[in-house]
Amino acid sequence: MKKITDNLALLYSAVELRQRVEELGSIISKKYENKDPIFIDVLNGSFIFMADLLRSISIECEMDFIKVRSYSGQKSSGTIQLLKDVSADVKDRNIILVEDIVDTGLTIKFLRKRLFGSSPKSIAVATLLYKPSVAKIDFDIDYIGFEIPQEYVVGYGLDYEQKLRHLDSLYCIKVN
Ligand code: 5GP
Repeated sequence: MKKITDNLALLYSAVELRQRVEELGSIISKKYENKDPIFIDVLNGSFIFMADLLRSISIECEMDFIKVRSYSGQKSSGTIQLLKDVSADVKDRNIILVEDIVDTGLTIKFLRKRLFGSSPKSIAVATLLYKPSVAKIDFDIDYIGFEIPQEYVVGYGLDYEQKLRHLDSLYCIKVN
C-alpha cells in the first residue's frame, strides 16, 4: 500500500534549514539590540521554526503565541479565525511576528491589523517561507528564510491534514 511519505520530494534539508534560520537569528539579533523585542509565534505551523530561531537569538527577548486557522486541507479557506490571542501586553513593544509561510498573505494581514490595534511600537514579520507568486500584500515582509514556488510544502512544523509536522526537513507533497 502507498504511504503518504511516498509522495514527498525534498525541498530543503535539515542542515540547510538550520543554517538559514541561524542567519536570520543573527540578523535579527543585530537589528534588535537593546530593543527588548517580543517574538509572537503564529501557531501551529511555525512552532519548530520559532524554537530554532529563538535559540539563534543572542539578545534579550520575550516570546508569546497566537493561534489562527485559515486552511482546510490544501486550500486557504479565505477567512481567518482567531483560536488563541496573545497573553502579553504588547503596547509600546517591538513585535516580531513569526510565521511558517506567507502564501496568500491573508493570515499575516489579519494578524498585523489586529496587533496594530494594541498600539505596539513596531511590528516586523519573520517568515521561514514565502510564495511570491501567490502573496497579495501591500507591506514588506522583513525577514524571509526562503522564497519558494507555488507548491504545497510539509515538514519542519508544516502539516498535511495535521500530519508530517515532525519531519526535520522540508518537502513538497504531491497528492493526486
Ligand atoms: P496565507 O494566509 O498566507 O494564505 O496562509 C498562511 C497559512 O496557511 C500558513 O501559516 C500555513 O499554516 C498555511 N499554508 C499556506 N501554504 C502552505 C503550504 O504550502 N503548506 C502547509 N503545510 N501550509 C500552508
